[in-house]
Formats: sequence, structure tokens, C-alpha cells
Amino acid sequence: MSRICYAFVSDNLIISNISFFFPDRPTSFAATSAILQLSTKYMVSRLREKAVYHLCRLYPTSFDDMNPDHKDLSLEVFGTTSGPEHPIILVNLAQSSNLTKLLPWAYYSVIRWSFRDMVIGHKCHDGTTVHLSDHDKQKCLLGFESLMSTQHANIKNIFAGPSPRCQGSVNNIDCVSGISDALKRALDEHGTGLIAPLGPLRRKVNACEKCLQNIRHLDLELRKKVWDKLPEVFDLPPWSQLLEEEEE
Ligand SMILES: [Zn+2]
Repeated sequence: MSRICYAFVSDNLIISNISFFFPDRPTSFAATSAILQLSTKYMVSRLREKAVYHLCRLYPTSFDDMNPDHKDLSLEVFGTTSGPEHPIILVNLAQSSNLTKLLPWAYYSVIRWSFRDMVIGHKCHDGTTVHLSDHDKQKCLLGFESLMSTQHANIKNIFAGPSPRCQGSVNNIDCVSGISDALKRALDEHGTGLIAPLGPLRRKVNACEKCLQNIRHLDLELRKKVWDKLPEVFDLPPWSQLLEEEEE
């Protein structure tokens, strides 16, 4: 029996077809988590790499890997249509398996999911409740405040006014009022606690094509900045260090 098999049997866990775990095929979150935790515990690095790769298909560690349209990839990755796991579960998995590079996205997802869950925990379908540790809760609360403030500033920047290329054109007066209206609506939504600094703008803005291009450009640039600073928001090392740690 191989070292891996001994390890799994000694933990009283039966993972069938372990040798057929191919990260490009659908594998459930539960099985992937178990493989990650056990391969971490018993230092089976190749298996851990596979599990990490599989999780990163759904949970991004780079701006380009992010899924800004929130296309549901759960079926493709985990073979389920019931949506992704609650992000508190992801935070706890990342912590228990030293997968720090997943934490920025996991914390961000907790914040987006539900403030109530972040504070008091989430009741799962099976009746169990998952909680953040006090340490993680503190990081999420501070991150929430920081991202809300960033989002507020970004909205004001994105809808600051017409594009310099529009100024003086026949559209300009309409663009000023269209963009001002969009700013007002964006701030109204922000006031309700909506927090999506990494999500692209979806609102209709009544402005000329040059202004719309300018708005889309600003939106993209500011989202990239939010992504770059995401670890810092949660008091984690920068992306470069988080990604290096995993390769060591
Ligand atoms: Zn314009």
C-alpha cells in the first residue's frame, strides 16, 4: 500500500478513485477539500498541487482569472448545479490547509455574500452552522469598511463627468446630465450597502460613445487597482508574495 493510501486509511477517510483525480474534470468541493487537507497534512505535494489547481479554476488568484460576469462554473468544476460553497467554508478551508493565496478572494466573497453571515455565521442545508474565527471576522469587518470607502471614491471618479474628448461637442450637455444621473443612482445603491468594487458596471448611462468608452476604461482601471490591493485590504502579504509562497 502506498504512503498516500496508508495516510487516508489511518484517517478513516475513504476517498474512492483517488488515483483518478484529474483537476480538469468535475470533482466535488467536498472531495477536493478532503484531498487538499490530507495531502497538506501528509505532505503529498503533487496531490496538493492538483487540488489547489482545481479550486483555483473557480476561485481566482489573478485579475485575469476573475469571472466578472459571475458565470456559474460550479457544474464545470464541482459537478453540481447548486452553486458555489458558502465563502465562510472557503475561508476555513484556506486557513486549515495553509492556502493563503485563496484568502483575498474568500474574504471578499464573504463580504459580498452577507454581512449577517459574516458576523453570526451561516446555517447550511444539513443544519450545521459555519462560522468565521474571530481573527477572520475581524479581517472581514475591517476589509468591508475599507472596500466600502474605496468603492465610494471609485464611483465618484468613474462618474466625474464627460470624457475630455466629449467636451465642447453637441452631446456635451446631455452627457453632463446623463453621467450626473448615473452618479446619483450609483451612490444611492452604494448607500444600501451594495459592495461590488470588483464587479463591472452594469448600469445604463445616457451619454455619447466617447463618454461611455471613458467610463468603461475608468471602471476597468479602478477594478484592477482594487484587485491589486485586495490582500492589503485584509492585512495579508501582497499578491507577489502570496503566489510565490505556493510555488515553494
Ligand atoms: Zn459625451
